[in-house]
Amino acid sequence: MQIAFVLLAAGSGERLDAEVPKSLVKLDNLPLFIHSLIRCKEAGFFNQSILVVPEGFKEDFKSALFEHGLDVDSLVLGGSKRVESMSNALDAIKYADYVFIHDAARPFISVRLMEALLKEVQKHSAVMPALAVSSALKISKDGFAVRTLDRRNMYTVQTPQVFDFQLIKLALLEFKNRNIGDEVFDDSFLLELSGNKVRMIEGDLFNFKITYPQDLEFAKRILE
Ligand code: C5P
Repeated sequence: MQIAFVLLAAGSGERLDAEVPKSLVKLDNLPLFIHSLIRCKEAGFFNQSILVVPEGFKEDFKSALFEHGLDVDSLVLGGSKRVESMSNALDAIKYADYVFIHDAARPFISVRLMEALLKEVQKHSAVMPALAVSSALKISKDGFAVRTLDRRNMYTVQTPQVFDFQLIKLALLEFKNRNIGDEVFDDSFLLELSGNKVRMIEGDLFNFKITYPQDLEFAKRILE
């Protein structure tokens, strides 16, 4: 079985307010993206790894890899939108049965979660980790709550999202052909658009995404 690991690290991280792209920001003395690559190696079942980096920073990522004794099979440039970065990564894969697509902004990915996803994707062709929403959900307008949503059946989803390789390639192609914009918040959305079902399994509270400065602060406290 051929399994590919795609690590999306081409975001600018504007919301983090850092001087370097978010994936290069250090957490516990390691650039964020290195945390996920260490876990990927530990998992031991990936046959290929693809790292997607922002334009102008290829050398920085290469030297971080070297410094930490890690390697990837392909280092590709990302696009200005997440879906472009993901598309470039899939283009770099010649053959795979399944592909894991992970955000470098989620450094606390666990081997246990990856193993659970691998088991499930073989049954359902597409799977993602999700957490049931436990807080009340509001729609706000100009700083005021204008509506309360029914939070039952609401989930926040995480990465890695794992797909049958041919299925996600086809869904991406269909998405491009339909020309319906480029605001794709996660990869499973492409499968939804093409009428495919995506299995949800229990996510991991620690597998949160680092977006704002306080997320980074929270991550540092967890490690302490
Ligand atoms: O911006 P956001 O935090 O939602 O991005 C999620 C992940 O997608 C990050 O790891 C980021 O590096 C990646 N990304 C990318 N290419 C983009 C935008 C985001 O690889 N154009």
